[in-house]
Amino acid sequence: MSTGTPNNTLDFSHAKLVARISEISPLLVPGNDIPSRLTQKLQMTLDIAEQIRIFVEALSELIEVEGVRYLNELPQVHLQSERMGVHRCHYTLNLPDAELGEISFGRNRRFLEPELKVIEQMLAILVYPLRNALLYKQALDTALTDSLTALHNKRAFDQYICREIELAQRHASSLSLVLIDLDHFKRINDQFGHLNGDKVLTEVASRIRKTCRHSDLCFRLGGEEFAVILSQTDRDGAWIIAERIRQAICSNPIQIDGQEITMTASLGIANYSAGESRDDLVRRADVALYNAKREGRNRCCYEAACPQPSLLC
Ligand code: GH3
Ligand code: MG
Ligand code: MG
Repeated sequence: MSTGTPNNTLDFSHAKLVARISEISPLLVPGNDIPSRLTQKLQMTLDIAEQIRIFVEALSELIEVEGVRYLNELPQVHLQSERMGVHRCHYTLNLPDAELGEISFGRNRRFLEPELKVIEQMLAILVYPLRNALLYKQALDTALTDSLTALHNKRAFDQYICREIELAQRHASSLSLVLIDLDHFKRINDQFGHLNGDKVLTEVASRIRKTCRHSDLCFRLGGEEFAVILSQTDRDGAWIIAERIRQAICSNPIQIDGQEITMTASLGIANYSAGESRDDLVRRADVALYNAKREGRNRCCYEAACPQPSLLC
């Protein structure tokens, strides 16, 4: 059940913002500086999750709130508390020059009219810091995105692979890396031109992304080379996903210039071995890819780690 206001759109012009913020004071007990403390704290971070946490913390000093959900399309943000309660109120946040997504609050008691007013007034404090944080995230996302395929780019790969190795070490969990290289791609360019080659790359990227789980990280490393980082995935799991990717690329022809082209890819898989460096993991996946090419292309190959010296008898 979802009750409370159905879905309010709050359009904050500068004048309305000033009015709303000044309206807050009478609602608060004298000496209470929640709005100014909130303003200060929000200005200290550009992390959207942190801003929402700070906001809910401040709001909770004024009214009871059990959970929060914040969604935005571009840049993509999806935050939701574990528990939301059965009563909700929803707000679409707009500034004159920007749409700031939707925020919902939840709890197990109905929201009363005066409480909704407090939420709206407090949201007036959130909107500008939130807009700055969204712009910042958008800039970061752009710097880490491949402009042709919209997959993560090489720079993102360098960041994510280090982070994923750290997590795998800390939680002693599995981690696998799959490198993908299209077979004889040069011929596509030669035969159909560079622009059509780009269309093939975009279609292949889309097939890779659709084949992977939401939590898998897909990259275009450059040219016709892609990578997928599979967290919490062991050797067998990685093999299954790599095979699925290979089949997704070759099973249905790609339409170019009215012709159907069957693309194939070679894939190299390596499973992270505790204590190994990023470079060693990438090198092993690369060796596996090289073997897949050498053994005739359109196949997956796995490269096992050398046993650690301490494990040798
Ligand atoms: P192999 O099976 O050995 O991998 O052969 P290949 O032809 O795929 O590999 P090679 O490295 O010889 O050629 C890769 C080609 O990818 C050459 C280059 O023209 C093309 N390429 C690289 N980047 C792009 C791009 O952004 N767009 C297009 N259309 N082609 C690209
Ligand atoms: Mg290549
Ligand atoms: Mg190639």
